[in-house]
Amino acid sequence: MKVLEDRIREEGQILSETVLKVDSFLNHQVDTALALQIGREFKDIFGQERVTKILTVEASGIQFAMAAGIAFGVPFVYAKKKKAVTQSEEVYSAPVHSFTRQEDYRISISQKYLGPEDKVLIVDDFLATGAALVGLTDIVEAAGAELVGVGCVIEKSFQEGRGLLEQRGIRVHSLARIAAMAPGEVHFIPELIEERAEC
Ligand code: 5GP
Repeated sequence: MKVLEDRIREEGQILSETVLKVDSFLNHQVDTALALQIGREFKDIFGQERVTKILTVEASGIQFAMAAGIAFGVPFVYAKKKKAVTQSEEVYSAPVHSFTRQEDYRISISQKYLGPEDKVLIVDDFLATGAALVGLTDIVEAAGAELVGVGCVIEKSFQEGRGLLEQRGIRVHSLARIAAMAPGEVHFIPELIEERAEC
């Protein structure tokens, strides 16, 4: 997605060879027009499937899950990282190890909002190690729902996330794929026209 790659080049701060900061437009301050455009892009890519629900993990996937939900005309559900006092019902949950924060936590979704009748598209801001998204795919499986695919805004393709998901037979599409980066430079993997045509 050219507009996204341009914004990453213009505003992204490459803090190291593995960490990209995009909080001026993606995941702290959010460019709402761009977020809605991202939602429509996911609809273009996965729209031939009859998606019934968009899933993400709080907090920084929420704006893109909402945008995708608007584009598909379906609800979105976000997995919670902490159990809220209001959450008394049964949940599906999965452990996640965060490599960025070096901590373990559990994500959970109420069983009321996901079931065997659902066809799910998972959406998130970053695909890095894939730990959070593997946890979400475990939840989809536990609920007996069908996973249509995973859509990520930015993929750091030099990390193992895509491989982990593809090993599970999951269709992955990211809007900007970073092959390599270093302070002052970022190299994208060109978007494959055929990839979209085969969808
Ligand atoms: P995972 O390693 O599980 O694929 O990534 C988990 C989460 O860590 C992502 O959804 C994202 O919120 C955050 N994350 C991973 N890598 C980066 C990065 O380079 N920059 C930013 N801003 N967040 C990241």
